Amino acid sequence: MENNNQGQIHIVCGPMYCGKSSELIRLARRELIANKTVQVFKYEEDNRYSENDLASHDKLFIPAEPVLYTSDIYQKLKENTDTIIVDEVQFLDDIIIPFSEYIRDQGKRIILAGLDLDFRGEPFPFNKSNKHMGELLAKADYLEKLTAICTYSLNGKTCGEDAKRTQRLINQEPAPYNSPIKLIGAKDNYEARCIKHHFVPGKPVY
Ligand SMILES: [Zn+2]
Repeated sequence: MENNNQGQIHIVCGPMYCGKSSELIRLARRELIANKTVQVFKYEEDNRYSENDLASHDKLFIPAEPVLYTSDIYQKLKENTDTIIVDEVQFLDDIIIPFSEYIRDQGKRIILAGLDLDFRGEPFPFNKSNKHMGELLAKADYLEKLTAICTYSLNGKTCGEDAKRTQRLINQEPAPYNSPIKLIGAKDNYEARCIKHHFVPGKPVY
């Protein structure tokens, strides 16, 4: 049967805690109401103990298939799938860019969610690549840029402004610009912050 559907690359991005997964659930629900066949993929380095399904309070429950590479999505893709959903897309390799265009050009819909920026406030680089999320965002037919709420707190008062950045903290101190991605033995955590309260010691000033 000829496929007359217009394909679409739809991207949901923003800092940590901005509700990307909730938005994916809402979008997945819409696809199911439209009787589309949906496959969900999620980058997962170690999926042995994790809860990686897109689940919501109502009956929607779509198991997310763990993937490490874009080629894993290609291999797991079923022929009758109408809509592909990919979570944590920023951790994949840059093949996801041409792959998304390929899916769109098949007349299918691909919905991708991920961090647009890294903890430095720079476009999130794809795995072992000099390409970054900015290049994927430029290919989007539809782009949602979500914000979280800044949780910076001073003297017991929380900022509450729109948070567009992810603050990385190492042992509760702002992570320096050149800090390694993985630290052994240090407490590494993240908070949503507005631009004013996003601190990156050693970040070059232009
Ligand atoms: Zn703030």
